[in-house]
Amino acid sequence: MYPGLRTSVMVAMLGVGCAAVAQNVLPTSGGSHRWAVVLHGGAGVIERRSMSAEMDAEYRAALKRSLQAAADVLEKGGSSMDAVETAIKLMEDDPLFNAGRGAVFTANGKNELDAAMMDGATMKAGAVAGVTRTRHPISLARAVMEKSPHVMLIGEGADRFAASVDLEQVPPSYFFTERRWQGLIRQLKKEGAPLPQRPQGAPPAPKGGMAEIEPPDTHKYGTVGVVALDRSGNIAAGTSTGGTQAKRWGRVGDSPIIGAGTYASNESCAVSATGTGEYFIRLTVARTICALVQYKGMKLQDAADEVVQTELKAIHGDGGVIAIAADGQMAWSFNTPGMYRGRVEEGKAIDVRIYADER
Ligand code: ASP
Repeated sequence: MYPGLRTSVMVAMLGVGCAAVAQNVLPTSGGSHRWAVVLHGGAGVIERRSMSAEMDAEYRAALKRSLQAAADVLEKGGSSMDAVETAIKLMEDDPLFNAGRGAVFTANGKNELDAAMMDGATMKAGAVAGVTRTRHPISLARAVMEKSPHVMLIGEGADRFAASVDLEQVPPSYFFTERRWQGLIRQLKKEGAPLPQRPQGAPPAPKGGMAEIEPPDTHKYGTVGVVALDRSGNIAAGTSTGGTQAKRWGRVGDSPIIGAGTYASNESCAVSATGTGEYFIRLTVARTICALVQYKGMKLQDAADEVVQTELKAIHGDGGVIAIAADGQMAWSFNTPGMYRGRVEEGKAIDVRIYADER
């Protein structure tokens, strides 16, 4: 259906006034738009007092690196999809983040990775959950979208599909990091749960453990997400995560659920979320924010705040979102003490922040 017509029909169904729609008819392609990127590296109890100066600097440098990589793609006229994938691949390779290498462990000592991408121009999407062998789950999510007739693949089948489209396969121990392993052991001990065997292929345990160099559970966060707007006026979103630490029974969070943790449509906005996924799924956070923009004519920041600060808080969901609209509006909103985050737009300097009080 012609997009404008589809919008009118949906608006009529929702009984919302047409004035709101007129404000939200966004360009889909062509013209020279100013590119922009917003990114997150996870939200949670991230506080100055539990962060060393070195850690703080490492996170900021990593966020900058990824923003710069996305900016380079967009500056050359590349697509928002390419910018999102490029930036997320870097963060998946960086053990600082809970995505790809550096992912948190399940209760039985495995890394099970989830990711999704959505293209705002076509509203096509791809997602994967419970992947254990594919180095870049975000590229696999994109391949599901572009090279399969499906939207979501899980587990062993998803890895097999990755191999069939020549995406790099690695042994599961590639994702192992001592820091995440110690995080899991600490949590399971606290819960009085059985401790899994150290994974096959992991390096030998360091003598003396990690206790003295690691603050408590501060770093179990670190899901990554990127939203971008390219010069053609197209937006895209992507999210990649190891999920929640000590997850059980094949648990899947919001990140790979289209409309919950990831969403993009040129007619409204692109969103990537991070936080306790169960709450984000129940509220379909990403799509709800975009629906407020599309049907109520809300400003992007107001829509993000409405969902994160009011609706999510009301059900005790913690976390945050980043968002971008095809008209260049950018937003982030989180209800936790911190969220690793940053943004950059054409002609402006990179801006990275961690704590809630950095305005
Ligand atoms: N939202 C992710 C999940 O629930 C985790 C996170 O963002 O920290 O799987």
